Amino acid sequence: LSQPAPERLAVSEGLFARARQVTPGGVNSPVRAFGSVGGHPHFIASADGAYLTNADGARLLDYIGSWGPMILGHNHPAVREAITGALQGGTSFGAPNEREVLLAEKVVELTRELGVERVRFVNSGTEATMSALRLARGVTGRSHIVKFRGNYHGHADGLLVEAGSGLLTTAHHLGEAAPSSAGVPQEYAALTLVSEYNDPAALDALMQERGHEIAAVIFEPVVGNSGVLIPTPDFLAALHRVREHGTLLIADEVMTGFRLSLQGASGLLGIQPDLLTWGKIIGGGLPVGAYGGRAELMEHVSPSGPVYQAGTLSGNPLAMAAGLATLSELQARPELYTQLDRYAAALADGLKSAAQEAGVPVSVNQIGSMLTAFHQDAPHGSVQTYQQAARSDASAFAAWFRSMLRQGVYWAPSQFESIFVSAAHGDTELNLTLDAARRAYAELG
Ligand code: PMP
Repeated sequence: LSQPAPERLAVSEGLFARARQVTPGGVNSPVRAFGSVGGHPHFIASADGAYLTNADGARLLDYIGSWGPMILGHNHPAVREAITGALQGGTSFGAPNEREVLLAEKVVELTRELGVERVRFVNSGTEATMSALRLARGVTGRSHIVKFRGNYHGHADGLLVEAGSGLLTTAHHLGEAAPSSAGVPQEYAALTLVSEYNDPAALDALMQERGHEIAAVIFEPVVGNSGVLIPTPDFLAALHRVREHGTLLIADEVMTGFRLSLQGASGLLGIQPDLLTWGKIIGGGLPVGAYGGRAELMEHVSPSGPVYQAGTLSGNPLAMAAGLATLSELQARPELYTQLDRYAAALADGLKSAAQEAGVPVSVNQIGSMLTAFHQDAPHGSVQTYQQAARSDASAFAAWFRSMLRQGVYWAPSQFESIFVSAAHGDTELNLTLDAARRAYAELG
């Protein structure tokens, strides 16, 4: 790895200065601006396998994977060829095309055991969760929804309430029991009830009191957006009980879908949701989201039913081709999941011992190819709630992050995010990462 010393970031810094003149904060999605870790974002010129090349020509070992989609690694030949092939036939039709059918058939084939019989494609995870909630409200005739503190489901108004991800790290977090963003009316936010992740008693109590008003409970089946949090069996049981109130259970698999297994976190953990939402991997690096479930529910969506939802670019042929190539590759090589898990487990072990040697308190959560190392003094695997995650020392993390980046390892630029391992991460990358991590912890210790 080349070492991207600050003076070697001249091109990125120049681009960032120009970007700030024409785009709010210089970025098109907040966490990219490095607000919580300091320093300037690297502009990326290209990406291949496990590596990014920044605009200054330095190579960076990538643990963001575009925040999840790039499970096969960047610029994967099968995905590139699928997109190139589709490109020859035009980029958008505004009429049905075969690739939409092929990708929908693939998703149904892979997730039928979860009850998925119909799937509708949209263009982002945000659209997927927004649409699934509209469907749940349309089917049940109820107005309220429940989400969990620190879970993130995209930036639709009703979901920007006690939300995770960038909301946990931007300077404008507005505080307790309130919208997480300006511009979300309190009246609208009031329709979103907030409960605590991994607190089955709190969810049971809320459902006892208000279950009859609640259209849906939406949740991250493994949380990535408060850092990684793994659901306890008791909490999963409480989630399944919400159905006793006629409430629909929506598993937001935007991050975990096709990542934690071919059947996502739901398949891995034995969750049986009524509706699922997807994004990221399902589009293979192009803008795709989707929602799906039983026919009896999904047929309420227009034009079959009265719940309206549409999109000019939905089912875009290039995006469908990229998603289909990605899912087909994952299906053809199921051993990839074992490989990803092994890598991430070895990374977790290496980080634990490196931190311990340096005397830096760290608590690692890892499941499959998702991992967060919380800078706090707690047993590994014991961070289960948003409140516990929030106790982390974000400034120690920031210093560690900057040291890793100076050494050419591009970790997620926030304490409250997951990193994502790809199939292109191998022994070389593991050793590079752990060497860098040992130095970064030693600098902190
Ligand atoms: N749900 C979850 C669980 C997510 O992690 C994200 C994005 N990180 C979203 C929804 C929103 O997806 P998008 O950014 O594609 O709108």
